[in-house]
This record gives sequence, structure tokens and C-alpha cells, in this order.
Amino acid sequence: MFNLNNKIAIITGASRGIGKEIAKLFSKSGAHVVCVARSQKEIETLSKSINDTGGSSSFQICDVSDEDSFDFLIKKTIQDYKKLDILINNAGITKDSLIMRMNSDDWDKVLDINLKGTFHGIKSAMRPMMKNKTGRIINITSIVGLTGNAGQANYAASKAGIIGLTKSVAKEVSKRGITVNCIAPGWIQTNMTDELNENIKEEFLKRIPINRIGTPKDIAYTALFLASDEASYITGQTITVDGGRIIN
Ligand code: NDP
Repeated sequence: MFNLNNKIAIITGASRGIGKEIAKLFSKSGAHVVCVARSQKEIETLSKSINDTGGSSSFQICDVSDEDSFDFLIKKTIQDYKKLDILINNAGITKDSLIMRMNSDDWDKVLDINLKGTFHGIKSAMRPMMKNKTGRIINITSIVGLTGNAGQANYAASKAGIIGLTKSVAKEVSKRGITVNCIAPGWIQTNMTDELNENIKEEFLKRIPINRIGTPKDIAYTALFLASDEASYITGQTITVDGGRIIN
């Protein structure tokens, strides 16, 4: 169940954290994975290690906030593999501060990568997926996009925007065999959250009913399900993977 045999998947932000785990799981599940990030060394190393352990992968350097670069990435994938089945828009950044101190550069950077980057990916993937009459687009948002978070107005706005974008595009393309969904992780152990101070971490943990921090694998398994043929009747949804944090 939930195999991705013969599927071609692009995963942005695959050099570490959640994206890396999705790339590894998808390749183990039979997909060819195109691993994407801005920094060559990490993404090349990941792709090599997938190929050395029996999987199939390639890598591309792309800044998702650059429309032409994302478009080239999709065109190159079609040229090399003839189709695109799955796009995971996972690349994301934070630049946290209280609204009084937030400057417009930090606002723009977060919105350009998180929200506009997702838009670029969806737009470029649409034509090949429509031609193929099938496709899975999975956008990584955050529970912060649902709840808001003090100190993260730019990040929360970008992640809430992704949810609205997802629902709208899902309505536009559902008759074409393409599903568009979001995963909203809670607190997942990665570089992004390692930066938080210990007191904040302790407070967070108290509010997670399952009483543990999430792992990138928790998100990867959800992505695998949404990318599978078995999830063909799910679109426009946001699945929270947060140990129950949002219900607490
Ligand atoms: P990491 O910081 O560990 O990894 C981020 C990845 O995105 C890296 O591979 C990075 O590579 C890549 N990236 C960043 N900017 C760009 C860009 N402009 N173009 C292409 N790639 C880029 O983050 P996580 O794994 O923790 O987060 C992954 C996603 O999950 C993000 O969208 C994040 O917002 C979301 N999320 C994470 C949570 C958590 O608790 N960790 C909670 C909720 C949501 P490089 O720098 O080389 O480009």
C-alpha cells in the first residue's frame, strides 16, 4: 500500500529537515525524486546517498522565490523524465520579530520564499500535470497559519496564504485529476526549531497532548499518503500533524 512506483516527484527544500525525510521516504517508496535547494553541497550529497542505497534521485539548484528558476526546474524535469506526478512545496524560512520591530525586508523575504515560491511551483507544474491528467501537489504550511503566533506575523501570513492558495487551486483543477493539499506541521525537530530557546520549547511541549516533539518522519508519512493513488478523493484540505497541539 501507498507505493509511488514509477512516479516522478519534485521536493523543494530537500537538503535538510522535513524535505530531506520526504525525499528519502518517497525514493524508498519507488519514486524518482528530484531534490531541490539553494545550496549545492547538501543536496548533491543527499541525492548521491539515495542513489547509493538503491533509490533513484537527481538534484537541482533552485531558489523558489525566483520564478524563472522554478520554471526551468519543472521544464528540465519534464525534459529528463517526460512527466511530473508529484510536487512538494516544502522550502520555507522564518525571520521572526514582533510586529513593531518587523522591517519590510524581513516581511518580503518570508513572503517571497514561503508563499510566492509555492505559487511559482504550482503555476509551473500545472501545464505538465494537466497534460498528464493527473497530479499531486502538497504544500507545507504550518499550524501557525491556522492559529497565528506572536513574533511570527510574516511567517503566519505566508502560511495562511498557502492555505487559501491551496483551496483556490484545488477548486480550479479538481476536474483535471490533480489534487492540491496542505500539511500543517506543529513543532518538528529540525534546524528551524533548534534555534528556539529552551524555555519556549518547554512551554510548547506542555501543550502537546501526545507529549513529544514531532519528527520529520511524521510529516513524511503524511506526505506519502497524500501523494499516493489511495488519496485521490482528498483535495483542498489542510492536515495538521502536530501531536494534537491545535486542539489543546
Ligand atoms: P529547515 O530550515 O530545516 O530546511 C529548510 C529547507 O528549505 C532547506 O533545505 C533549505 O535549503 C530550503 N530553502 C530555504 N529557502 C529556500 C529557497 N529560497 N529556495 C529553495 N530552497 C530553500 O526547515 P524545516 O525542515 O523545519 O521546514 C520545512 C518546511 O516545513 C518549511 O516550509 C517550514 O516552514 C515548515 N514547517 C516546519 C516546522 C518545524 O517545526 N520544523 C513547523 C511547521 C512548518 P537551502 O538553504 O540550501 O536553500
